[in-house]
Amino acid sequence: MDSAKRERAEAWLRYAEELGLGPYYRGRAPETPTPGFAGAPSFPEGRVGMPIEVSAPAQIASPAVAAAAPKRVPVPPLAPAPKAAPAATFVPVVTGPSLFEAAERIEGDTLERIRADIGDCTRCKLHKSRTKIVFGVGNPKAELVFVGEGPGHDEDVQGEPFVGRAGKLLTQMIEAMSLRREDVYICNVVKCRPPENRLPERDEIATCSPFLLRQLAAIQPKVICCLGACAAQTLLQTNQGISRYRGEWFDYRGAKLIATYHPAYLLRNPSAKGEVWKDLLKVMALLGLQPKKR
Ligand code: URA
Repeated sequence: MDSAKRERAEAWLRYAEELGLGPYYRGRAPETPTPGFAGAPSFPEGRVGMPIEVSAPAQIASPAVAAAAPKRVPVPPLAPAPKAAPAATFVPVVTGPSLFEAAERIEGDTLERIRADIGDCTRCKLHKSRTKIVFGVGNPKAELVFVGEGPGHDEDVQGEPFVGRAGKLLTQMIEAMSLRREDVYICNVVKCRPPENRLPERDEIATCSPFLLRQLAAIQPKVICCLGACAAQTLLQTNQGISRYRGEWFDYRGAKLIATYHPAYLLRNPSAKGEVWKDLLKVMALLGLQPKKR
């Protein structure tokens, strides 16, 4: 590697470490086939007999904003879910300046309108290298929304989120939950592919994430499942590493939010599948879903 490239890579690693993205960052490195994974009959490993843990349904703050007459209302701050035995310990997120102080909800917003507002976007530098804007796919009334980081190569070409190797694993995860891809909604923090699959930068997240917030507000899911650190840190407005709060429930603007590891991380670390499956079981318990029979 030449010295300029090495310096850039080191700067990125430092930045990722500062953000607590270490494990995820490594999971985002070019994907190589994972021995023993390809052709696995189903997503979970050893799920039989795995206890379903779920915190008692959190008080879902029904923000006054929902019914309120004003057209635009400020986004309420993050509220951790109340703890209920035997729920896992809640790790408070770091408070700090919000990326979304300017974000607002728009009464009567729809996915079509949000897509139209994005248009042929040139708001940030990611537009220069993208092929297609990857808006999101699935049921506009989904009870469950998965939020990833940003499109990769396959998504950029096809214009659909999670269609590459990580996407196939996500599909297996969804099916293991006795759902189909079309039952849920799948989208990303940024809608255009970061060049060479690098992490989205702060300004790109700040520019694009208001559209994600509008998507979530328009869908009003019961559960938001953040796939990986980028989605979790963006929505929870924290710089803490995902392993600090993975599998914990948060109240999030009238929904419940849980963060789990990104499927791309699982491709490189298949031993983490069990942890992810536990998180998905919590989601299923909350949504009243039974695991798919083998
Ligand atoms: N990784 C993501 O975070 N999103 C995608 O759409 C694909 C891979």
